[in-house]
Amino acid sequence: MKNIRNFCIIAHIDHGKSTLADRLLDFTGSVTDREKQDQLLDSMDLERERGITIKSHAIQMDYEFNGEKYVLNLIDTPGHVDFSYEVSRSIAACEGALLIVDAAQSIQAQTISNLYLALENDLEIIPVLNKVDLPSANPEEVTDDIVDLLGCDPEDVIHASGKTGFGIENVLAAVINRIPAPKGNPDEPLQALIFDSVYNPFRGVETYFRVINGSIKKGQEIKFIATNKKYFADEVGTLKLKQLPKKEIKAGDVGYLITGIKDAREVKVGDTITDSKEPTKNAISGFEDVKPMVFAGIYPVDTEDYEELRASMEKLQLNDASLIFAPESSAALGFGFRCGFLGMLHMEIIQERLEREFDMTVITTVPNVSYHAYTKKQPDDIIIVNNPSDLPDPSTLDRVEEPYIKATIITKADFVGNVMSLCIEKRGQITNQTYLTTERVELNFDMPLAEIVFDFYDRLKTVSKGYASFDYHPIGMKPSKLVRVDILLNAQTVDALSALIHADNAQTIGKKMCEKLKELIPRQQFDIPIQAAIGAKIISRETIKALRKDVTAKCYGGDISRKRKLLEKQKKGKKRMRQVGNVEIPQQAFMAVLKLN
Ligand code: GDP
Ligand code: MG
Repeated sequence: MKNIRNFCIIAHIDHGKSTLADRLLDFTGSVTDREKQDQLLDSMDLERERGITIKSHAIQMDYEFNGEKYVLNLIDTPGHVDFSYEVSRSIAACEGALLIVDAAQSIQAQTISNLYLALENDLEIIPVLNKVDLPSANPEEVTDDIVDLLGCDPEDVIHASGKTGFGIENVLAAVINRIPAPKGNPDEPLQALIFDSVYNPFRGVETYFRVINGSIKKGQEIKFIATNKKYFADEVGTLKLKQLPKKEIKAGDVGYLITGIKDAREVKVGDTITDSKEPTKNAISGFEDVKPMVFAGIYPVDTEDYEELRASMEKLQLNDASLIFAPESSAALGFGFRCGFLGMLHMEIIQERLEREFDMTVITTVPNVSYHAYTKKQPDDIIIVNNPSDLPDPSTLDRVEEPYIKATIITKADFVGNVMSLCIEKRGQITNQTYLTTERVELNFDMPLAEIVFDFYDRLKTVSKGYASFDYHPIGMKPSKLVRVDILLNAQTVDALSALIHADNAQTIGKKMCEKLKELIPRQQFDIPIQAAIGAKIISRETIKALRKDVTAKCYGGDISRKRKLLEKQKKGKKRMRQVGNVEIPQQAFMAVLKLN
């Protein structure tokens, strides 16, 4: 055990975690030339294409240092806030962390939030100043920033480049010299932390764990404490680039477990694995179920595909336990599902995976957060509102509460004014303002989650010319004045376009929605009135003028093949459209409320 080191790499997004991990793997000879590729640990296609890490990944490296053999377990973590729960569990599986800071960007919001997570778990922090090869790097200044943040000596900061490989040897030496070896007792009852799981269509769910005490053996009967389910350890092993089966994984080490579980929901990140007959008395603390933050309806474009969509969602859920869904129906769209997501990025990924992996064409409706409503009759009973149509009639309502977050924004002094106006526009209240240096400012706001999950991040980037980073944590529910704005097309309410909006903004947003829908809904053979309403009161109105000519008319009726091509083109354009009554609504229209600026 004294020669094991467990560590993770934490950083703000794009500061170079995955690239640095690649260099560590190269340097320790953990990959052959043939296996080499960039961001090697990002194994999902989607991760590779988007250049982001969605899942945590673990890999074991062997390294000889001063004549002794060491086992280094590296856990790469996702940087996006949607997946921060995974970061927190990965951190709990380690004794140390490499804190990567981009030498051109310096400390950003997630640098700080991930650092706090690491400090809460008592990890040894090794600061790494990365990307020193960049011409725009500012090594002295950024080192000062790091020293200020950590209270460390400038000599503790390791200069490195994941791109050129500069400094990698020093990083490895620091991992061995500064990070403590794991403690724990191999003779105590088994106690292992699940920090990740991966779905493999052939072998079922692979569970990644860190053994705290005891050991886990092939063939052992084990139990997951949170779910209280028992399994046999069909296979255990260590995580090299390929899995390496072993007879036993002992206290201090990291490994994988295969039990034949087919459903990702049975394996909960943060849960404790123990022996079924001689269980540990102590579950590892801090386990909590991951809660979805954003809800939206997913409907098949073609109503006949409902059952197929259900089957696809069930399969996808086996693979992604953080997706939740329940059947719902909409007067406008028919049968579909109300789904819960960790955030907008997660929602996009699910929609994309449904299309790519299951060949489904779906419409996603206006996303919303989860509200609490209370009626005058039963003012103590929470009604959870995940869908605008679940909001009780306003005349019966006692009060409504909405989820709030604490936002941390780091920006340059020049942009403080812009960022503040944006946050205030989004109903934020400033709680703190700290100058980290003369140039860089940290701002804290309490804000409604609903205001930030949608376009906030894009707006923030615009008003700060890219010089602002952002992170948030939920802080609970607060009372709110919410109303439901309904949209009527051709005098018919389209429930899938309804949105819950703060009363003070309802008028403006209703008007903007009508204007936006006018732009987005294609003209048809007849006039289409668009109205926004709160209850029976119409607050805004626009009209989509009828189309006068048939598109094929300009072909003079002569050229049949040209005519056919045009019709085909029209058909393709229809793909992501939904017929509601006699109006065709494109997918973008359902997202219109999110893009009103
Ligand atoms: P992550 O989001 O923290 O995992 O960051 P990545 O490893 O995906 O890197 C983000 C971007 O920075 C990629 O385009 C990398 O090629 C680039 N990058 C990473 N490390 C370095 C470095 O040391 N020098 C330079 N110049 N670019 C780097
Ligand atoms: Mg990455």
